[in-house]
Amino acid sequence: MQYEYTRKNYFKQAGEEELKAIFDYAEGYKDFLFTSKTERGSAKTAEKLCRERGYKPYMFGDKVKPGDKLFFINRDKNIFIIKIGTADIAKCGVKIMAAHVDSPRLDLKPNPLYEEDGMAFFKTHYYGGIKKYQWPTIPLALTGVVVLRGGKRVEVNVGEDENDPIFYITDLLPHLSQEQNEKTLAKAVTGESLNAIVGALPDKSEDKDGIKAAVLKLLHDKYGMTEIDFQTSELCFVPAGRPRDVGFDRALISAYGHDDKVCAYPEMTALFESDGKDTVMAIFADKEETGSDGVTGMQSRVILDILDSISRSLGADPVLVRYNSKCISADVCAAYDPDYASAFEKRNSSYLSCGASVTKYHGARGKASTNDASAEMVGYVRDAFEDAGVVYQTGELGRIDLGGGGTVAKFIANLGIDTLDVGVPVLSMHAPYEIISKADLYSMHKAMLAFCNKH
Ligand code: MN
Ligand code: MN
Repeated sequence: MQYEYTRKNYFKQAGEEELKAIFDYAEGYKDFLFTSKTERGSAKTAEKLCRERGYKPYMFGDKVKPGDKLFFINRDKNIFIIKIGTADIAKCGVKIMAAHVDSPRLDLKPNPLYEEDGMAFFKTHYYGGIKKYQWPTIPLALTGVVVLRGGKRVEVNVGEDENDPIFYITDLLPHLSQEQNEKTLAKAVTGESLNAIVGALPDKSEDKDGIKAAVLKLLHDKYGMTEIDFQTSELCFVPAGRPRDVGFDRALISAYGHDDKVCAYPEMTALFESDGKDTVMAIFADKEETGSDGVTGMQSRVILDILDSISRSLGADPVLVRYNSKCISADVCAAYDPDYASAFEKRNSSYLSCGASVTKYHGARGKASTNDASAEMVGYVRDAFEDAGVVYQTGELGRIDLGGGGTVAKFIANLGIDTLDVGVPVLSMHAPYEIISKADLYSMHKAMLAFCNKH
């Protein structure tokens, strides 16, 4: 009988075969992540993976039956992947997994382009919680869509191919930074200074603003757009480049947007692989980083409409289905960082490589603004994980009263669905390049699979 609980390092626990599975699985994730930096990219990549596996588009009101493999894409930014089970949906509910696929970044302002002192710039407005000083002097890619007059949509993607140019926000040289150095980190780089260089070659035929005019001409040649079309676009800068392994042993991955694609990918692969009796649904949500508002965020009615529509098609009472459903809010948590130890409480932190982490509550101060999952719900998920031999851990965000945070958990719980946060620990969360462990990534896949298959 083991009386004491000790957290385990998954790399240490895994046998040779499992270790190989951990490293192999990471390769698929890196490919997924590279084409999924934004919510639009994620929905598109997921749609491709769904279609390759025979999943069919679903629309409200469609007749569904056990065994159906479906996906619903909400305004190109938000995908619901659904596998209809053989169990009675009214009695057993739906196993829901909800991750988000938007990540902090720099959106363009509606009138972004200007010229000054030999350079043309795009003005940006940051999206989500960033530390502004982290964004200058790194290579940036531009991605998104422009809607032209009449509704034609043009996709823009510059900076990811190694032959592409990148974009760049400057910082002040240290030689002249005495005043900047005296400011706090929050104030040293301001939102209005996050302007990216997009050109420096003047159009000689223009009297003034020759660089801006030349950039506009390039944009018109390539995308058929003029300056006013920025106002009907959604373009953003994201850190350029592919995910990279970290360390001599390649145990970790550095990439932009682990939060929260590092949970979205495993919930999707788990759903694909699952063979349980219950109906399962994997959600890639949008707008989590700005509060889950809006038509593609988890506060929108769309999740209810899908659950209700499917319930009705199967002849089940939607209220009963919701009441009996369970949800894993699959979102990242903070990994304990020994360089910033004082921000954590070390006995209740999540540690790198110790597996997917269960977080009973997020919130701030006295558990304000959080879903605090019931002991029964945590117990249900624990049984699923332990029955399937998942190496996992349990923690909380960080030191009490230091800050706080949330996930989509509370919005789903507010619908009357038992919800628990489980996610991959991340170092340098919300930085342009974050770090995760391949062990935790694979543990998340196994954890989600165990949840899908438990009946
Ligand atoms: Mn997140
Ligand atoms: Mn986040």
